[in-house]
Formats: sequence, structure tokens, C-alpha cells
Amino acid sequence: MGIEDKGRLVVEKLMQRADRSKKPIVVNVSNRHFHCTQEVFEKLYGAGKKPTKKKDLLQPGQFACEETVTVRGTKGTLENVRMIGPLRPYTQVELSTTDTFTLGVRPPVRDSGNLKGSAPITIVGPQGSVDLPEGAIVAQRHIHFHPDEAKDFGVKNMETVRIKLGAGTPKETIFTILCRVREDMKLECHLDTDEANAAGIKNGDSAVML
Ligand SMILES: [Zn+2]
Repeated sequence: MGIEDKGRLVVEKLMQRADRSKKPIVVNVSNRHFHCTQEVFEKLYGAGKKPTKKKDLLQPGQFACEETVTVRGTKGTLENVRMIGPLRPYTQVELSTTDTFTLGVRPPVRDSGNLKGSAPITIVGPQGSVDLPEGAIVAQRHIHFHPDEAKDFGVKNMETVRIKLGAGTPKETIFTILCRVREDMKLECHLDTDEANAAGIKNGDSAVML
């Protein structure tokens, strides 16, 4: 590649960067919640039971359920922890760092579904409880992209980028954040309650990529 071609590539990259900072990314705040298998669901709610949809979420196919549980750690419990459907091939409890102190658990910061070596936790439902040897995580903050949107923003799956939140406010914050790209995903930034509070962000606010 000649010097001119290299120069052109650098300019294109810079223009794409300037461009992507003009596209707002909607931010939604994930409160503590859990995902589970059919097997675990039946232990919590009874044989043959299925989750009940309360509200569709922005990510295609994902929904908040009517079902809530109590989550128990070594030091305390949290009530009304909502299930997010549909049923999954694994069971996972997503907590904020503040929640981990209330419960007395020490989960790692993880990408969803990566549970090896995550923290033990107990889920208590109306019909029974389940002691998970692993399954509690603090979810790694992330942005969901459809592959077409990822192309627009010039990002790849599992790449880390920087976003600015609350621009011009006293809590203006820059976060490094993981990009997750999949056919069944749609542009949306997910923060937990600790992160949202730190940046003074509420549901539906927007972020810009730097
Ligand atoms: Zn998410």
C-alpha cells in the first residue's frame, strides 16, 4: 500500500469517528435481574410452569416477566428481583456492585453467559429455592449492535470503545464499554444502576461514542 492510500485510510477512519459521535445511542439502565433455564424455573414456580411476559424490551425477543424472586447471599437478601425472558440454556443473576455488598457475594465482572468461576448464590421462588454453585455476576457494561449498525459505527464484536454520558452536566462521564454485535441485537447501551447513578443517567437518555 502506498503512502497516499495509507493517508486516505487514516482520513476515512477519522471521518468515521467524527461521524459516529453525531449518532446518539439510547441508554437503558438494567436493574438487578435474573435469567434461568426451564429446569430452574420449574423448581422455583412448579412443574410445567412457564414465564409470563410483562413487557417487551428493546432487544428483539427479550422481555421482562411478571415473575420476581428473592435472591440470597451469605449476608443478606434482595426481594422482587425480576426475571428477564425468554428461558435460557443457563441461569444467571446480574447484580450491581452495591447489591453485592448487601448480599455478601463477590461476583466477577463478566459478559453475559460467561459463568465459569462466577459467584454462588441462592434464588428463592414461591414453590422452591435453588442453590447455584455459580451464576452471580456483575454484568460488564455494553452496547448492543445489529451487524449493520456496527458497520455504521465502525466497531467489531467484543471491541472496547469509549462513550460520553451526561455531556455538559456536573456528572458528565466517559466510560470504556464493550461492543456486542449479533443478528438479533439492536442499538442500545446497557448500564447497571451504579453506573447510571455515577453518570446521572436515567432510562432513555443518550450516549455518544468518542
Ligand atoms: Zn444488554
